[in-house]
Amino acid sequence: MSAELPLDENDKRRLVLKLISQLRCLECGQPFERQNFTLLHRWDDVWLLSSHCRHCDETSHVIIMMRLDAEPVPTTDLTPDEMGNAEDWTPITADDVLDIHTLLEEFEGDFEEFFTL
Ligand SMILES: [Zn+2]
Repeated sequence: MSAELPLDENDKRRLVLKLISQLRCLECGQPFERQNFTLLHRWDDVWLLSSHCRHCDETSHVIIMMRLDAEPVPTTDLTPDEMGNAEDWTPITADDVLDIHTLLEEFEGDFEEFFTL
């Protein structure tokens, strides 16, 4: 597998769908389904989605960054304990994921501004 290989649109869509299918609600921990997500905006390799939990009615945002040269992003809302447990979680990365960073944010504000920080 070459890290130089660019992702085409179908690859990106497939990765995003795979990724969000493994996400869980931050509030109640119930798994999301694809139809719980709405694509709000997409830049080249950054997709911003809104998620709505049908279990607890919580709304949050998911930011997915697909960058081949991405550095590891420590930004997370996990506690150190949860980070320690993360190794036991179902891995998102397989041989089909190069670098996808997901940020779950209770985000209210200017998305353009957020990405230019
Ligand atoms: Zn929920």
